[in-house]
Amino acid sequence: MPAPTTGKFHAFARGPGRGTGRIARSLGKPARAVPWYPLGSEERRPYASPGAPGGSDAAHGLCPRPAGHRVEEARRHVPGGLAGRDRVRPQRVRDRPGAGPDPGWPPRRGPHRGPGIAAVQRVQRLYEARGIRARELTHMRAAFYQGARTFTTGEMATPTPGPQEALLRVRRVGICGTDLHIFQGHLDHRVPKGGVIGHETFGEIVEAPGASGFTRGDRVVVEPVVFCGSCRACRMGASYLCYQLKVLGVDLPGGMREYWAVNTTRLLRVPDSITDEHAALIEPLAVAVHDVARADVKRGDAVLIFGGGPIGTLIALVARHRGARVAVVEVNPFRLDILKAFGLERVGPGTDVVAWAEQWTDGTGVDVAFEVTGNPAAARAVADVVRVWGTVSIVAIHAEPVPVNLYQMFARELVMHGSRLYARADWEEAIRLVASGAVPVAPLVSRRIPLESLQRGMEEALGGGPVMKVLVEV
Ligand SMILES: [Zn+2]
Ligand SMILES: [Zn+2]
Repeated sequence: MPAPTTGKFHAFARGPGRGTGRIARSLGKPARAVPWYPLGSEERRPYASPGAPGGSDAAHGLCPRPAGHRVEEARRHVPGGLAGRDRVRPQRVRDRPGAGPDPGWPPRRGPHRGPGIAAVQRVQRLYEARGIRARELTHMRAAFYQGARTFTTGEMATPTPGPQEALLRVRRVGICGTDLHIFQGHLDHRVPKGGVIGHETFGEIVEAPGASGFTRGDRVVVEPVVFCGSCRACRMGASYLCYQLKVLGVDLPGGMREYWAVNTTRLLRVPDSITDEHAALIEPLAVAVHDVARADVKRGDAVLIFGGGPIGTLIALVARHRGARVAVVEVNPFRLDILKAFGLERVGPGTDVVAWAEQWTDGTGVDVAFEVTGNPAAARAVADVVRVWGTVSIVAIHAEPVPVNLYQMFARELVMHGSRLYARADWEEAIRLVASGAVPVAPLVSRRIPLESLQRGMEEALGGGPVMKVLVEV
């Protein structure tokens, strides 16, 4: 952790002309260093990379600064500003630890008195009248991953966006299967302790660089991928599979906090016709759009989806929108009810899925089967339900190798592929599908929780039961 004077020193080093931290300091609330991750950790490097989106956050962990935009905004409401005797005097050089002996400049004039009490009280009254606590100027709420099965909620320094970044006020964050893997500690090699997760985010722009085309108040979703742009995958057009891929909310800080500085190239505008809640479902819908496109689902195809969670259901809805006949294999009664509400064909528990698929397709097998459960039994059965020259798409994360019927792959000359994230075009299509109402996402949201309940939300989502998509309202 940096010395507590680091924030002060930083503001001092920027020169009295900038001095955006003056008001916050005059309120006696210096920016606090936050233990973002243990220093020396292997995971430190990607988080601390100053060039990457989120890099400025990492810089805050090491060298916290007050949130310039909020201080500047508040300052406009202080009549006359902080002038005359209220002005904060520059610290004497020797006041800084390790600065050596007093160089004799600036000349000493008695003890340092700090800002005038009248100015402090005036600012405090103005802020309180507007419902702002002094601490809110420099800090924000965030949820922190603290190791397997533990999230805490606390405060961290509000980020200052870098030159390529916009500052977002995060509004909704979806919890997804990847987050549940993180919660169980499966991704500890990628997510550091003290890290902030959350990759299904919707927010509003607080400030953005002029040239970015975004302005304050714009509603946006975040495409949470950071890629190199020059490796083989990037040159092939698969930048979402970049060999140096970093995912915001996994490898880099994510959106489970009030304010987030994000590179503007990763933002997509959300039309006003889409509600905040539906906007948070654009990310998983982009996954489904990609999955259906990659499997080349065509009008009239018979499509069987193993797993009726949020992604499986969205794949079913997108495939149906494309004109396919769709059925979903699911065991959870709560999810079966939601599938029914969507008017989707269901294959419930206790059914012989292979026999059912054969009968559903007059003995030939389905055109495309998606494995979205992560369950080895589904992986074992998925090749058995597909027709000659049909397609098997693996969407679920199988952390361990599992048996697959390779004889069926051989005998029917099946095609099997993986389907992981999304390209930009998938996001644009997802936004169109929600905006037009072609894919009705509303019934997917089963629960809304505040940021402070993330731990319980994770436990409930992991426990199965009556859960579909859980949204965090920030
Ligand atoms: Zn996700
Ligand atoms: Zn690359």
